[in-house]
Amino acid sequence: MQIGPKLRALLIPYLVPGVAILAAALTSMQSPLLAVCVLFLTPAILTPLAHNFNRLGAKKCAENDAFMLEACGSGAISHFRLLYRQLPANPRCRVCFVPFGGIGRLLRISPSRKNPNFCRSCIDSSPEGVHDTEVGVLFVDIRGFTAWSSARPASVVAERVSHFYELASRVLMQDDALIEFVGDQVMALYLPAFPSLRGRTSDAMLNAAERLVAEAQREPGPDPLRFGIGINFGVASIGNVRKGARKDFTAVGDVVNTAARLQAAAGPNEIVVAEAVYKTLTAPPERAEPRDIDAKGKREPLPVYILRPDAAA
Ligand SMILES: [Zn+2]
Repeated sequence: MQIGPKLRALLIPYLVPGVAILAAALTSMQSPLLAVCVLFLTPAILTPLAHNFNRLGAKKCAENDAFMLEACGSGAISHFRLLYRQLPANPRCRVCFVPFGGIGRLLRISPSRKNPNFCRSCIDSSPEGVHDTEVGVLFVDIRGFTAWSSARPASVVAERVSHFYELASRVLMQDDALIEFVGDQVMALYLPAFPSLRGRTSDAMLNAAERLVAEAQREPGPDPLRFGIGINFGVASIGNVRKGARKDFTAVGDVVNTAARLQAAAGPNEIVVAEAVYKTLTAPPERAEPRDIDAKGKREPLPVYILRPDAAA
């Protein structure tokens, strides 16, 4: 018999305290002190184990069974959060609250490669398969990089690319974006399903884009990084996609492709904001310049808003 993902998502959080209470009831006949120990220790051990269910048991699940998103939809993640919140110690995953330190370290709970604010089980190790869901997509690259790099030694070029990756990762990960390096670009995914983003996804994206430009401007040296940034919002297919021998948590769809086109249309230190993002900002900036741009692969011009943070400073 196959247990559906929603039933499974509900079973695990109730099963863990259930086992603890039953074990405590049985041991209380022998010793009340032992019963108290069992009551507290069993969830502490079983819940991270149950959390790792994805890694241990997901291989048997059918494709398109995106457990993490199913679990979010069924409310099971919030049940986990209540349990995990009781376990020591910080820092902990911002989706499921499983601790990275203390018992989490013992059980090898490790941070995600896409953003260390989340655990691998919630992101990297969730089963293969995609779900259609809302996502904010930000693309950023270094403007004029090809011309700049053609006149410099490879070691200097590599150093600049590493510096760009480091700066972009540091700034974008602060708002819980999932980061992916695509050639000399960085793609950041902002999932409103994450508790820290929700209705502020568009605000978080624009804020991060402005911080990126500002941070680069503040750096010493005669030749600061200048970015082209495109941001878009909409429904895309999100989840773990097979890429050769490994799977990768990513987003696929027109929203992603359009975000890349918007970035390509951006000038140095320009942020090209899609209409879908602009309309969901809490306070759309008045200095944004409305424009229609011709994007490759699009029959109609795209209405966008252009922002130049360095010009406003
Ligand atoms: Zn997690």
